[in-house]
Amino acid sequence: PVLRVAIMGIGTYGNIVARALQASTKAKLVGVISGSPEKVKDWQSKYGIPDKNVYNYSNFENIKNNPDIDAIYVIVPNFLHKPYALRAATTGKHVICEKPLGRNAKESQDIVDGCKKAGVKLLVGYRMHFEPKNLEIISMRNAGDFGKIKYFTGNGGFRIGDPTQWRLDREKAGGGSMMDIGIYAVNGARYMVGEDPIWVTAQELPKSDTTKFKEGVDETITFQMGFPSGAVAQCLSTYGMNYVDRFLLIGERGWAELNPANGYGPLKGRTNKGELKAVSPPMQQTVQMDEMAGILLEGKTPVVAVDGEEAIKDSKIIDAVYEAVKTGKKVLLKLS
Ligand code: NAD
Repeated sequence: PVLRVAIMGIGTYGNIVARALQASTKAKLVGVISGSPEKVKDWQSKYGIPDKNVYNYSNFENIKNNPDIDAIYVIVPNFLHKPYALRAATTGKHVICEKPLGRNAKESQDIVDGCKKAGVKLLVGYRMHFEPKNLEIISMRNAGDFGKIKYFTGNGGFRIGDPTQWRLDREKAGGGSMMDIGIYAVNGARYMVGEDPIWVTAQELPKSDTTKFKEGVDETITFQMGFPSGAVAQCLSTYGMNYVDRFLLIGERGWAELNPANGYGPLKGRTNKGELKAVSPPMQQTVQMDEMAGILLEGKTPVVAVDGEEAIKDSKIIDAVYEAVKTGKKVLLKLS
């Protein structure tokens, strides 16, 4: 079976996912939800989307009567994830929602509850969780190649541009770089170390520009997470430095590095034993959508889970990072 997907939101990332879907053998772009008729026309001709599969933000509940769509992929700014994912769930179609699921743990929980109540599956657009080099490191760790895991570093970020964009609006984004980029180190630490953290500490660096980075919009945060085994993660999330994109996992007997670690392009990685062997796909989102089709249609279990419960954990950690920045204190976590 092929997963027939309607994408909501023809923005930067919606366009990337649409392109990636062209190469998917298990998922197919069949519909669109958009408020821009011009962009829709372009997509219809580019991707062969029939008129009957075109919706806008006022009428997309009607997808419930459309037997030719299996899932709605929500790719709109963060503040719209909750209202739109909940409305999407009422159609009875599966929901894929971009990261961060909610702007905080409460919103993420509300989305999970809404999807459960509607009886639909919910997945989060975590592309790295399916990326072959990440999975190779996890498999080597599971085989004991690095020995007991002691330390992880996740550094991510770039210098953000246009000060008027929604990513720099606290209400629309839910925060700053931590919401957008820090989340990769948060869940990267969890799947690389293979445990959920039990405490968080965090610090915010001075802002370089107080017009761009207002109250509640973080530019650069460093944060640490402690794990039950005693392993510790040290992470950096920034909107103020370019080309920051690195993971490093260290165990008692070996290490693995990804650099770049989270970019769209082919990742590069090596371990103390040499280069990683897994081949990077031309587009990570193609693999993501192939795998998500397997999860939604065939009940497959992925190596690294991408469901709502996972996203709630990530949201709780991000909430804790913000709390630790504010109070200067260690925040204890109980994730499972
Ligand atoms: P974008 O601003 O380029 O696109 C957002 C789209 O939402 C636009 O087409 C816009 O028209 C539409 N939209 C609908 N209602 C809107 C409203 N009321 N206000 C503003 N826009 C509205 O943003 P983007 O970069 O495509 O990001 C969209 C989502 O995808 C975000 O949640 C982001 O975190 C996520 N994202 C994920 C990845 C990833 O690698 N998984 C990468 C980029 C973005």
